[in-house]
Amino acid sequence: MFWLKSCPKCTNGDLYESRDSFGSYVACLQCGYYLTQAEEVVLRYVSRLARQSAAAGGHQGGSEKVSHTAPALGTSGASA
Ligand SMILES: [Zn+2]
Repeated sequence: MFWLKSCPKCTNGDLYESRDSFGSYVACLQCGYYLTQAEEVVLRYVSRLARQSAAAGGHQGGSEKVSHTAPALGTSGASA
């Protein structure tokens, strides 16, 4: 997995996920910085949010509570 321009240290570096005998880790290609556990968690969380908002059509209200909006994605439930 890659995260482009997401390095918390040099801010422009590309992060990559790798794995060794100690487990998986995330490091920066450009500056060689290793993310801390907390930074990894944030990175994965943010990337997951981005993917979800992209899947939802890019519309993101920004509020933490998602209200009961109408099914915008045309999921036609067969209700006759
Ligand atoms: Zn970096």
